[in-house]
Amino acid sequence: MFTVGCHLSFSKGFMGMAREALSLGGSGFQFFTGNPRGYAAKEWSAKDIESYNAFAAANGIGVIIAHAPYVYNLCAAKEEIRQLSFDAMKNDLRKLEAVENAVYNFHPGSHVGQGTETGVALIADALNRLEAGRYRTPVLLETMAGKGSEVGARFEELAAILARVEDNGHLGVCLDTCHVFDGGYDIVNDLNGVLAEFDKTVGLDRLKAIHLNDSKNPAGSHKDRHEKLGEGCIGLEPFRAIVNHPALRDLPFCLETPNEAEGYAKEIAVLRKMRAESGVRSAES
Ligand code: FE
Ligand code: FE
Ligand code: ZN
Repeated sequence: MFTVGCHLSFSKGFMGMAREALSLGGSGFQFFTGNPRGYAAKEWSAKDIESYNAFAAANGIGVIIAHAPYVYNLCAAKEEIRQLSFDAMKNDLRKLEAVENAVYNFHPGSHVGQGTETGVALIADALNRLEAGRYRTPVLLETMAGKGSEVGARFEELAAILARVEDNGHLGVCLDTCHVFDGGYDIVNDLNGVLAEFDKTVGLDRLKAIHLNDSKNPAGSHKDRHEKLGEGCIGLEPFRAIVNHPALRDLPFCLETPNEAEGYAKEIAVLRKMRAESGVRSAES
C-alpha cells in the first residue's frame, strides 16, 4: 500500500480532511493538532472521530500524521514555555487516543542560545516525563533544517535525545526531505549513504514517516524554505528513489509543499506514477 497525501487544514474535521485527501488522489494526510502558532487547542468531536475511523478503514486511508504546532518548544530557555509545550503535547496525545492509525510529529525544539547539549538534555527530560509509551500514538521527532538554534538537524542529536529517554520504544523519527537536505545530507546524489548514516546513528527501525518537500536553497543552507517538487534545489528525480526505496516505501509520505489543492493533486499523481513505473520495472527485470 502506498500512503501518500499532503498537509490539510483541520477546519472541516477528520471527516472533512479524509474526503479532501481522497479527492486529491491521496491515501493519507497531515494536520496541525491546534493553531500552529498557539498552545490552546479545541477539543475534537468524538462523533467526527468515530465516523473517521470507520471511513478511513473502508476507504484505504493509511497512517495519518498529527503535527504539533510550531510554537511548542521543549528546550526553551523560559521554564514557562517549556511547561506550556509539555502540557500541550500531553493534551494532544490524550485527544489522539480516540484516533486510529495516527502518528504524532513534533519539532524537537530550539535551544535559543543555551547550546545543543542543553537543548538535547531538556528535550529528553520532557520526553521522559511525557511517558509516550502510555499512549497509543507513536511520538516522532522531526529531522530539522538547523535554522537558528534548532536541535535535530544532525542525526546524532536525534540519537542523543532518544538515548536519554528511558522508555523510548514509542518514540520515532519523521524525516523531512527539505530539512535533511538543508541540514547538509546529500539525498540527491547519495540517498543510500544518507540512509546508511541514519541507520548507524538513529536506526532505520525508528523511521516512521516522511515529509516530501523540495528546497528553495542548496544543500547545507539551513534555511528551511520548502519548494514544490521539482522546482527547487533537490529536483524531481530524487523523489522517485525516495518513494520507491525499500527502507522507505511502506512509510506514510506527506507533502508540505507551497501548493493549493490543484498543485497537491498534481504532485500526488506524479508520485503515484513514480511508484507504478517502479513496479513495472521490477516486474520486468
Ligand atoms: Fe514540521
Ligand atoms: Fe516537515
Ligand atoms: Zn520545514
